[in-house]
Amino acid sequence: MNTQYLRDRTRELFRGMMAAATERRLHLELGDAELGRLYKELGVDRDGFRGLLLSGGEWRERLPRMMRRFGVKPEGIAEGARLEDMQRVCAGCPAQYRCARALARGDNAATCAAFCPNADTFESLQAA
Ligand code: SF4
Repeated sequence: MNTQYLRDRTRELFRGMMAAATERRLHLELGDAELGRLYKELGVDRDGFRGLLLSGGEWRERLPRMMRRFGVKPEGIAEGARLEDMQRVCAGCPAQYRCARALARGDNAATCAAFCPNADTFESLQAA
Protein backbone atom coordinates (compact mmCIF):
# COMPACT_ATOMS: atom_id res chain seq x y z
CA MET A 1 0.00 0.00 0.00
CA ASN A 2 1.67 3.24 -1.06
CA THR A 3 1.69 6.62 0.62
CA GLN A 4 -0.37 8.32 -2.09
CA TYR A 5 -3.12 5.70 -1.76
CA LEU A 6 -3.24 6.30 2.00
CA ARG A 7 -3.44 10.07 1.44
CA ASP A 8 -6.29 9.64 -1.05
CA ARG A 9 -8.17 7.28 1.27
CA THR A 10 -7.67 9.65 4.21
CA ARG A 11 -9.05 12.57 2.18
CA GLU A 12 -12.01 10.47 1.10
CA LEU A 13 -12.75 9.34 4.64
CA PHE A 14 -12.45 12.91 5.91
CA ARG A 15 -14.77 14.20 3.20
CA GLY A 16 -17.23 11.45 4.11
CA MET A 17 -17.11 12.39 7.79
CA MET A 18 -17.60 16.07 6.98
CA ALA A 19 -20.54 15.29 4.73
CA ALA A 20 -22.11 13.03 7.37
CA ALA A 21 -21.68 15.76 10.02
CA THR A 22 -23.25 18.38 7.73
CA GLU A 23 -26.11 16.04 6.96
CA ARG A 24 -26.70 15.39 10.69
CA ARG A 25 -26.86 19.15 11.28
CA LEU A 26 -29.32 19.61 8.44
CA HIS A 27 -31.33 16.73 9.81
CA LEU A 28 -31.58 18.41 13.19
CA GLU A 29 -32.51 21.76 11.65
CA LEU A 30 -34.91 20.54 8.96
CA GLY A 31 -36.27 17.26 10.29
CA ASP A 32 -36.97 14.00 8.43
CA ALA A 33 -39.79 15.15 6.20
CA GLU A 34 -38.09 18.31 4.95
CA LEU A 35 -34.78 16.53 4.33
CA GLY A 36 -36.63 13.77 2.47
CA ARG A 37 -38.25 16.41 0.26
CA LEU A 38 -34.82 17.90 -0.42
CA TYR A 39 -33.41 14.47 -1.45
CA LYS A 40 -36.37 13.98 -3.77
CA GLU A 41 -35.97 17.41 -5.32
CA LEU A 42 -32.29 16.75 -5.97
CA GLY A 43 -32.94 13.21 -7.24
CA VAL A 44 -30.53 11.62 -4.78
CA ASP A 45 -30.61 9.13 -1.95
CA ARG A 46 -28.90 9.70 1.39
CA ASP A 47 -25.44 8.60 0.17
CA GLY A 48 -25.75 10.68 -2.99
CA PHE A 49 -26.73 13.68 -0.91
CA ARG A 50 -23.64 13.31 1.27
CA GLY A 51 -21.49 13.23 -1.82
CA LEU A 52 -23.18 16.35 -3.18
CA LEU A 53 -22.60 18.22 0.07
CA LEU A 54 -18.87 18.30 -0.45
CA SER A 55 -18.65 17.86 -4.17
CA GLY A 56 -17.15 20.56 -6.30
CA GLY A 57 -18.00 20.60 -9.98
CA GLU A 58 -14.90 18.63 -10.96
CA TRP A 59 -16.96 15.55 -11.81
CA ARG A 60 -18.14 17.34 -14.98
CA GLU A 61 -14.64 17.09 -16.32
CA ARG A 62 -13.93 13.62 -14.89
CA LEU A 63 -17.03 11.84 -16.18
CA PRO A 64 -16.29 12.21 -19.91
CA ARG A 65 -12.62 11.41 -19.35
CA MET A 66 -13.53 8.23 -17.50
CA MET A 67 -16.05 7.27 -20.19
CA ARG A 68 -13.26 7.48 -22.77
CA ARG A 69 -11.07 5.35 -20.53
CA PHE A 70 -13.76 2.66 -20.89
CA GLY A 71 -13.92 3.15 -24.64
CA VAL A 72 -17.23 5.04 -24.53
CA LYS A 73 -17.58 8.27 -26.55
CA PRO A 74 -19.31 10.90 -24.37
CA GLU A 75 -20.57 12.73 -27.46
CA GLY A 76 -22.40 9.53 -28.45
CA ILE A 77 -24.50 9.48 -25.26
CA ALA A 78 -27.94 10.97 -25.75
CA GLU A 79 -29.38 13.31 -23.14
CA GLY A 80 -31.79 11.40 -20.97
CA ALA A 81 -32.33 9.38 -17.84
CA ARG A 82 -29.20 7.26 -18.33
CA LEU A 83 -26.91 10.28 -18.68
CA GLU A 84 -28.58 12.00 -15.73
CA ASP A 85 -28.11 8.89 -13.65
CA MET A 86 -24.38 8.74 -14.47
CA GLN A 87 -24.05 12.44 -13.66
CA ARG A 88 -25.86 11.99 -10.34
CA VAL A 89 -23.63 9.05 -9.39
CA CYS A 90 -20.50 10.94 -10.43
CA ALA A 91 -21.43 14.11 -8.54
CA GLY A 92 -21.92 12.09 -5.35
CA CYS A 93 -19.01 9.73 -5.90
CA PRO A 94 -17.02 8.88 -2.77
CA ALA A 95 -13.92 7.99 -4.82
CA GLN A 96 -13.27 11.37 -6.44
CA TYR A 97 -9.67 11.68 -5.28
CA ARG A 98 -8.81 8.18 -6.45
CA CYS A 99 -10.53 8.96 -9.74
CA ALA A 100 -8.54 12.14 -10.34
CA ARG A 101 -5.30 10.33 -9.58
CA ALA A 102 -6.15 7.33 -11.77
CA LEU A 103 -7.04 9.60 -14.67
CA ALA A 104 -3.81 11.56 -14.25
CA ARG A 105 -1.79 8.34 -14.11
CA GLY A 106 -3.48 6.89 -17.15
CA ASP A 107 -4.79 3.82 -15.31
CA ASN A 108 -6.74 1.46 -17.55
CA ALA A 109 -10.45 0.61 -17.38
CA ALA A 110 -9.87 -2.60 -15.41
CA THR A 111 -8.07 -0.67 -12.67
CA CYS A 112 -10.69 2.12 -12.63
CA ALA A 113 -13.55 -0.42 -12.51
CA ALA A 114 -12.38 -1.40 -9.03
CA PHE A 115 -13.54 1.94 -7.56
CA CYS A 116 -15.76 3.73 -10.11
CA PRO A 117 -19.45 3.33 -9.25
CA ASN A 118 -20.32 4.09 -12.88
CA ALA A 119 -18.13 1.28 -14.24
CA ASP A 120 -21.03 -1.15 -14.87
CA THR A 121 -22.90 1.51 -16.84
CA PHE A 122 -19.81 2.33 -18.90
CA GLU A 123 -19.35 -1.37 -19.63
CA SER A 124 -22.96 -1.77 -20.71
CA LEU A 125 -22.52 1.23 -23.02
CA GLN A 126 -19.40 -0.37 -24.48
CA ALA A 127 -21.41 -3.48 -25.29
CA ALA A 128 -24.26 -1.50 -26.90
S1 SF4 B 1 -14.80 7.22 -10.10
FE1 SF4 B 1 -16.46 8.52 -9.40
S2 SF4 B 1 -15.87 10.59 -10.02
FE2 SF4 B 1 -14.69 9.15 -11.26
S3 SF4 B 1 -15.88 8.85 -13.12
FE3 SF4 B 1 -16.40 7.22 -11.70
S4 SF4 B 1 -18.23 7.98 -10.67
FE4 SF4 B 1 -17.23 9.76 -11.61
